[in-house]
Amino acid sequence: MIKFLDLHKINMLHQDETEQRLLKTFRSGWYLLGQEVKQFEQELSAYTGSKHAIGVANGLDALRLIFKAYIELGEMQPGDEVIVPANTYIASVLAITDNGLKPVFTEPDINTYNIDVAGIEEKITSRTKAIMIVHLYGQAVFSYGLEQLAQKHNLKIIEDNAQAIGARWNDISTGNLGDAAGFSFYPSKNLGALGDAGAVTTSDDILAKTVRALANYGSGEKYINNYQGLNSRLDEIQAAVLNVKLKYLDAENVRRREIAGYYIQNINNPGIILPQPPEDGTNHVWHLFVIRTKERNRLQAYLLNKDIQTQIHYPVPPHKQQAYREYNHLSFPVTETIHNEVLSLPISPVLTLEEARTVAEAINNFK
Ligand SMILES: *Cc1c(COP(=O)(O)O)cnc(C)c1O
Repeated sequence: MIKFLDLHKINMLHQDETEQRLLKTFRSGWYLLGQEVKQFEQELSAYTGSKHAIGVANGLDALRLIFKAYIELGEMQPGDEVIVPANTYIASVLAITDNGLKPVFTEPDINTYNIDVAGIEEKITSRTKAIMIVHLYGQAVFSYGLEQLAQKHNLKIIEDNAQAIGARWNDISTGNLGDAAGFSFYPSKNLGALGDAGAVTTSDDILAKTVRALANYGSGEKYINNYQGLNSRLDEIQAAVLNVKLKYLDAENVRRREIAGYYIQNINNPGIILPQPPEDGTNHVWHLFVIRTKERNRLQAYLLNKDIQTQIHYPVPPHKQQAYREYNHLSFPVTETIHNEVLSLPISPVLTLEEARTVAEAINNFK
């Protein structure tokens, strides 16, 4: 069986180091707001180039806290609008609506699956306060045009960087392209913890301070609460694991690129649309390798029959979910086509080229 993602194997790559670090943390007697989190925040900030990194409980909270902080700071108000790609994981949208803000969906570029900058300006109204970009599947999305558009209309750029840690655009890391970014270290992400974990990065001092306070009951100083905050802290155990794994992230992303390169060179079936080769080697970290075909469900069953696991990211877009009934009537043909046709192939730092060959051959033989 070729697993879609072998998390056991991935975490065993650094077994000794991780086990020692976990044991040390266990024995330290200090489990929250300690040295491991502090170190991780420093390293993540150095890694991305952002001035601040704040560990939080998960990726959704990271994004929620950014908007909550902007609201506390008076930069946004409930009812304001945030432009967001229609084809994203629902968490991007939940972070917006949870704060009483209004998601304004926009179509992606059918070639990159990332937000289509050309479609943004027509969505801007007097209530628009931010554009959320999602570096989907691990591919960085940014442009001077986007930056200028945001400046012209005085909009924040928020990055959902749950899938693209390590990717760069023009030598700038994702997480340091916009005003603030949310990271997820959910176990299956390129940098995965052993449970839930997340972070916010920003170079805005006041925003960083506000997010940090909001994540800790709205308190900057013990028992003094400036805001009605939440409890959303990164714990020491998860930070310990992340401190070990962050060192290997770049090498693991290189492995992902090798697998992606292999698939791109060796899959040639006229019924299959491959991801576009990225503009340069560093703007894609291949969190997912997503192909498209009109025969998606049949291909998935065929591959499973050959012991190859695949997944669909994602089968139903947020605006068609029951959770967002008020948006169900909206129509985004590009987004809906993507959701009907995508299939994610196995890719990870522990997938062997031999396994990649088996996958490619099976797809080439699919009629
Ligand atoms: C994983 C993910 C999130 C949410 O992260 P969690 O840590 O699971 O809360 C948000 N956005 C995108 C695009 C994701 O892939």
